[in-house]
Amino acid sequence: MLPRHGVTPALVYEARQRIAGRVVRSPLVRSAALSARFDADIHLKLETCQPSGAFKLRGATNMIAALIERHGRDALNAGVTTASTGNHGRAVALAASRLGVPAVICLSRLVPDNKVAAIEALGVEARRIGRSQDEAFGEAERLVRDQGMTLIPPFDDPLIAAGQGTIGIELMEDAPELDQVIVGLSGGGLLGGIGAAIKAIRPGTRITGVSLSRGAAMWESLRAGRPVEVEEIESLGDSLGGGIGLDNRCTLALVDEVMDDHYQVSEPAIAHAMVDLLEHEKMLVEGAAAVGLAAIAEHQIEVRGQRVALIVSGNGVSLETFDRARRMANR
Ligand SMILES: *Cc1c(COP(=O)(O)O)cnc(C)c1O
Repeated sequence: MLPRHGVTPALVYEARQRIAGRVVRSPLVRSAALSARFDADIHLKLETCQPSGAFKLRGATNMIAALIERHGRDALNAGVTTASTGNHGRAVALAASRLGVPAVICLSRLVPDNKVAAIEALGVEARRIGRSQDEAFGEAERLVRDQGMTLIPPFDDPLIAAGQGTIGIELMEDAPELDQVIVGLSGGGLLGGIGAAIKAIRPGTRITGVSLSRGAAMWESLRAGRPVEVEEIESLGDSLGGGIGLDNRCTLALVDEVMDDHYQVSEPAIAHAMVDLLEHEKMLVEGAAAVGLAAIAEHQIEVRGQRVALIVSGNGVSLETFDRARRMANR
C-alpha cells in the first residue's frame, strides 16, 4: 500500500537515477577533531559542495526533470516558479536553467540586491514584488493561475522529498554502518527524504532532527498532530525558519514516521557551532548547517562510540551574519 505521504523508497531510487550527473554526489568526510572531542566516529556530509550552495538543488532538479519525463517538455513551456529568498530560490533557478525550462523566482522588495543578482546571474528572472514573503508567494500563485506556470514547492511534495532523500542512499553507500544521522529540520523535505531512504536500507540507523528553539513550526505541528502556524523569528539558522503550510500533505506525516529523536537548539549554540566549523574544519557554513553539531554540544546527544553523520546542508551565509555569530559566541 502506498503510504499517505507518497514518499516510497522506490521514488528515492528513481530520483537518484534522474539527478545523477546533474547534481554533485557530495563527499562524506570524517572529522578527526569532532570525533576526538565527542569520543565518536563523526562524519560530515558536505552539501555545501553543490553549485547552488545547498542540498535543495537535489529536490528541485528531481521535480523539474520528473515533470518533463512524465508530461513532456511542452507541458513546462510556460515555465516554473517559486517564492524564495534563499537556497530554494537559487536551486530552482539553477535547475531550471540547466534543464532548459523558463523560470521566474518571486522575491519581496526587501530582499537584498546581492541575492537578486545571484538569481539573475543564472539567466533567470527575479521578480520583485510586495513587501513580504507572503506577497511574493501570492505573485507565484498568480503566475500559476494566470500564466499556467508550474509551482516548485520548497519541501511539501513527494518529488522534492525524494530528491533530498538521495542523500540517504549516498550515506548508506559510503558508511553502511551508520548508527545515527543528524539532520536540520524545517519543512521536513530533507529529514523526511533521508529517513525514507535509510529506514528502507538499515532501519536501526537512528534519524535525529534538529530544529530552532523558537518559531519551529514542525516541532509545534508534531506536538499538535496537525499543521500549526508559528510566529517567524529572526535566527542565525534562517534557512530553518518559516511554516510547514497549513495544508501540508506530505512532510508532516513523513517526518512523524521516520524520525526517532528531535531536539531544539539555542542561538548561542548555533553560533558556537558555526565558529567551531570554521576554526577546526575550515568550513564556512550557514547556521542551519551547524545545528547538528550545536545539538550534540548543547544537549550532549549520546554519540559516544557511535558512527554518526551530520548533514552540513548549506553555505548561504553573509559575512555580516557570520560576524554576528562570532560576536554572540564571544570568539
Ligand atoms: C531548506 C534547508 C534546510 C531544511 O530543509 P527542510 O526540507 O525545509 O526541512 C536545512 N538547511 C538548509 C541549508 C536549507 O536550505
